[in-house]
Amino acid sequence: MRYLSTRGHADRKRFCEILLEGLAPDGGLYLPESYPQVDAAQLERWRGVWREQGYAALAFEVLSLYIDDIPAADLKALCAKTYTAEVFGTPEIVPLKALEDGLWLEALSNGPTLAFKDMAMQLLGNLFEYELARRGEQLNILGATSGDTGSAAEYAMRGKQGVRVFMTSPHGRMSPFQQAQMFSLMDENIHNIAIEGVFDDCQDIVKAVSNDLEFKRRYKIGTVNSINWARLLAQVVYYFAGYFEATASNAEQVCFTVPSGNFGNVCAGHVARMMGLPIARLVVATNENDVLDEFFRSGVYRVRGAADTHETSSPSMDISKASNFERFVFDLLGRDAARTQALFGEALAREGRFDLSADPAFGQAAARYGFVSGKSTHADRLATIRDTFARFGVMIDTHTADGVKVAREQCLPGVPMIVLETALPIKFAATIVQALGREPDRPAKFEGIEALPRRVQLMPADAEAVKAFIARHCG
Ligand SMILES: *Cc1c(COP(=O)(O)O)cnc(C)c1O
Repeated sequence: MRYLSTRGHADRKRFCEILLEGLAPDGGLYLPESYPQVDAAQLERWRGVWREQGYAALAFEVLSLYIDDIPAADLKALCAKTYTAEVFGTPEIVPLKALEDGLWLEALSNGPTLAFKDMAMQLLGNLFEYELARRGEQLNILGATSGDTGSAAEYAMRGKQGVRVFMTSPHGRMSPFQQAQMFSLMDENIHNIAIEGVFDDCQDIVKAVSNDLEFKRRYKIGTVNSINWARLLAQVVYYFAGYFEATASNAEQVCFTVPSGNFGNVCAGHVARMMGLPIARLVVATNENDVLDEFFRSGVYRVRGAADTHETSSPSMDISKASNFERFVFDLLGRDAARTQALFGEALAREGRFDLSADPAFGQAAARYGFVSGKSTHADRLATIRDTFARFGVMIDTHTADGVKVAREQCLPGVPMIVLETALPIKFAATIVQALGREPDRPAKFEGIEALPRRVQLMPADAEAVKAFIARHCG
C-alpha cells in the first residue's frame, strides 16, 4: 500500500513514512492510492472475527489492509494492547445503546478522556512509541487545544518512550473538568502550557514555532492534528463494528450520523463505505458553525472569518473550516489532483470559498457517496437532551445531541440509524444543568479530580518564551 497527496505531488509513501508527518510537501493530505475492497466473503469473515475475537482483532484486520510496513505480529500486538476493556470501559469497546425503534447510539466515549478522540489517539500513542523505538528517534509533540484534542493526546502519550508533549491552551478558558483532566497529569513527558490569551494565540504560537525550520529540526517538533492519516484510519474500524452490532446479516444496510467539525470522523465513515461497508447514508451533523451543512445543501464551501465563527455549547465542533474535507472533495472530483489543488491551494487562499453547485460531481455527493447533512442550534440541543433523557433515561452530551437531532430528520424507513456518541455529558456539565436541572453523572475514576495537584506552566502569548521552555525540557 502506497499513499499519495490530494494535490498531486509525485511521491508515493508507505504508512510508517507518513505516520509522523502532517501535510504532504505540496500542502495536500495523504490518502491511499486506492481503497482496499472488502467483498462479501471477507465481510462475512470479519463479522465472525468481531463476534468471536472482539474489537482489537477486527481493528487488526482493517489496519493490516493499509499498513504493510509493520510485521503482522507486531501490528496485532499493538491493536491488542490498545483496545482493552481496562482502557475503554467495556469488553465490547464500542457498545450500542438503543433509543427509539431503529435509532442507536454507538458509545465511542468511554476511553480515558471521555471523548471519541481516544479511539484513534490511544492507537497513535502506541504506534508512535513503536516506530520511534524502531528508528531510534525522539519526537516532541507541540499542540494547541481548547479541550478535547489536547487531553486525548496527553492521555495517549503519557509515559511513552521517545515522546514528549508540549500542549498550549488558553489560560482559564477550558471547562473546569477539562482543565483538571489535563493539568492533573504528573507524567514527566507531559507539559501543560497555559497561555495568557485565546485559542487563536495558542495556534499562532504553534505555527510560529513550526515555521522556524531550524528550531523544528533541532528539537524534532511534530504534531498530532486531525489530518494525520493514522488517526483517520483507526476511526474506520468502529464503523464496521457498529454495523455488525446493529445488523444480523450482511444483506442489511445502515445509516450513520456523525457530529462533525473538522470532517475527520465522518471521513472515516466515507472510507469504510468506499471499502464496501453497506452504508446507505452518511449524515453530517453540524452546530451553528454550519460550513459543512452549507456545502452539502448548496455546493458552496465557504471558510468563515473569526467574527463569523460562533462559540457554542458543542465547542468541539466550533470550526471555521473543515481541515479533512479536502480528502472527500478529492474523491468526489474523481481523484483529480489538479482540480483539488486549484480549489484548496488557490481558490480558498484567494477568495475563501469555492462553488461546485454547477458541477455534475456535486450532484453525486448524495446519490453516489451517500452524504446528506443537517444542523442544530443551542435550543435544539437543550430540547434533544431533555427529550432523550425523559423518554429513554439516557443522558447525552451536547455534541451527541446535535447528532441525534439531525439523525431523526434523516432516517430512512426500515434502515437502522447509528448516531456516533462523541463525548460524555460530564465534559459539558453547564449545558446539562441548563437542560435537565441536574448535574450529569460522573464516572467513578473522575471523582474529585478538580482537587488534585496540578502541573501547568503559565506563560505570555509569546512564541520565543515557548521555544525557550521546550529547549529547557529537551535535555
Ligand atoms: C473533535 C470532536 C468532534 C468533531 O469531530 P471531527 O472529526 O473534527 O469532525 C465532535 N464531537 C466531539 C466531542 C469532539 O471532540
